[in-house]
Amino acid sequence: MEMSREEARRRAARKRAAAKRKKYRRRRLMVLAAGLLIVALLVVGIVSLVTRAVKKNQPASALEPTAAAASAVADTLLPTAAMTALPTAVPATPIPATPAPAIQADWYIERTEQLYKNLSTYGNYPDAASIYRALDKMQIDPNGKMLALTFDDGPYPPITGAILDVLEANHARATFFIKGAYVDANQDLVKRELGLGCEIGNHTTNHDDLEKLSPADRRTTVGDVNDKIYRLFGYRIHLLRPPYISYGKKGSDTREDIVAMAKELELAIVNHTRSSHDSHEDYTAQMMIERILAEKDELGRGLNGSILLFHDKYQKTVEAMKVIIPALQQQGYQLVTVSELLNCSKEGLHYGWIYSKAD
Ligand SMILES: [Zn+2]
Repeated sequence: MEMSREEARRRAARKRAAAKRKKYRRRRLMVLAAGLLIVALLVVGIVSLVTRAVKKNQPASALEPTAAAASAVADTLLPTAAMTALPTAVPATPIPATPAPAIQADWYIERTEQLYKNLSTYGNYPDAASIYRALDKMQIDPNGKMLALTFDDGPYPPITGAILDVLEANHARATFFIKGAYVDANQDLVKRELGLGCEIGNHTTNHDDLEKLSPADRRTTVGDVNDKIYRLFGYRIHLLRPPYISYGKKGSDTREDIVAMAKELELAIVNHTRSSHDSHEDYTAQMMIERILAEKDELGRGLNGSILLFHDKYQKTVEAMKVIIPALQQQGYQLVTVSELLNCSKEGLHYGWIYSKAD
């Protein structure tokens, strides 16, 4: 029997409708599968976090020493970074609010590899397991409170060593803005700073006032410190603290040139938010302690996110640190390096940017 044209058209329409339904079913299945995958990923992340937390509470011997490869370190520490990145990528999940600021996984891995390199090259650790334990203590919770201790004008024996003793005893880290001219005679101190997971910043070769130098001389006094630290220790500096907080008035040619130089040399310009006033002759250790631990500074700013300024060249600074470091830790502050603080901030770390000084 011959099909009428009308029936053929109807049949074709039914076929199309069936194909469409099939396609929708397939799509629904795919959406469901993707949902399940996301849930599974979250469960794996949470389990790995819990496992790590449990491991942390076990005696040290329970931690297995593994091959001393930097990539292994990255794998060990990845879950934290991956977990913080995950909720941003997958918004419709039962996970609580997106951590802010979130840690960038790439940066965190690079940072941890650099720390591993410094600890294993310059640190005083008997075996790989103890390096991993030290690295574990250096993990950052991006949602936690944090601040950065900074020390200028060293390395300066015996004070720098005494400051490092206090840091080491408290598993704390800091950033040292060093004078290039002091480095040759004090290489052991720089090595110890790196071996404890501290950061090194540039404070020019001779504590030079950048405003008063020609553009060429600026590049020499700053660039020489970067080169020397890289040549001697294989370490690249990414922070510049201009002595005397002197980097030209806003809008001036001097400022423009100093910012351009910082960009060329891959440096962020970092001042401080709260000074201990340890360079003031009449300031005692007790006054420093009170000033640093005060809930608010004179501008009403709190401690969280602060960059605190000290100098590793006064005995009273050592005495003050013995009180300040445990007190800050007891208040729940993570004592991170300046680069870590900036990388965990909304702004991020950028070469040629000026941080933490109102213009
Ligand atoms: Zn200085």
